[in-house]
Amino acid sequence: MRISAKDLGWLAVDDFCHKCFWIERHTKGLPYQIGFPDIFFSIYAYTENIVERYVRKNEELPKWTDVIGYIKRIVTVKSSKFKTEKENITLSGILDLLFKRRNGDFIIVDYKTAKYTDNQDQLMPIYQIQHNGYAYIAEAIGYKPVKDLYLVHFESPHKEMYEAITDGYTNGNGFEMPFKPKIHKTKRDNKDIDRLLEKASNIYEQGNAPEGLVECKDCKRLENPIKIASI
Ligand code: SF4
Repeated sequence: MRISAKDLGWLAVDDFCHKCFWIERHTKGLPYQIGFPDIFFSIYAYTENIVERYVRKNEELPKWTDVIGYIKRIVTVKSSKFKTEKENITLSGILDLLFKRRNGDFIIVDYKTAKYTDNQDQLMPIYQIQHNGYAYIAEAIGYKPVKDLYLVHFESPHKEMYEAITDGYTNGNGFEMPFKPKIHKTKRDNKDIDRLLEKASNIYEQGNAPEGLVECKDCKRLENPIKIASI
């Protein structure tokens, strides 16, 4: 089975549904799936490129990353997946930035295009696993030790800033949109990765779909249309 570090993060949330996971992993082409709008990929690629170009040109990180400290170089990751030995699972993930520090250890920086709010705290367990999953991959393919993980939220402008933006960022060709970075350190810990890989493997290997969440009524709602359609 192949699983991304991000999807592995969902196994850590309280209301994770074993049935949903099993169905999703055993079915190709689920109905009612809507792709991500292109704009998110564009923002992601732009963000990644801007920072990377800055570092390559200036041989240092932008000022707003002072908390990370001095780096020696950016590492270009050739592979971002590997087959874990224990659970016969391929763990995959796309690392945003991997840096080598002057002392020889590594740092992984992951980007989120979102405002950092209290709601982010609920997502933090997922980000934490995703981020440590990247570190797990990086170390497995030779970039070790990964000592620190940093999460950067790129926040889009809020309403109070619109006036300044109209004045300062609009020109004859269109307009620019400034993003403000906020950096947080993520706890480095591999122990949950091993536990969740084992959990993912155990659910996947079951012969039939396990029970769904008791409080989720959607499976029940589906039964009726399926019954009608099969008459
Ligand atoms: S119980 Fe809910 S979450 Fe679980 S498989 Fe059914 S619809 Fe999905």
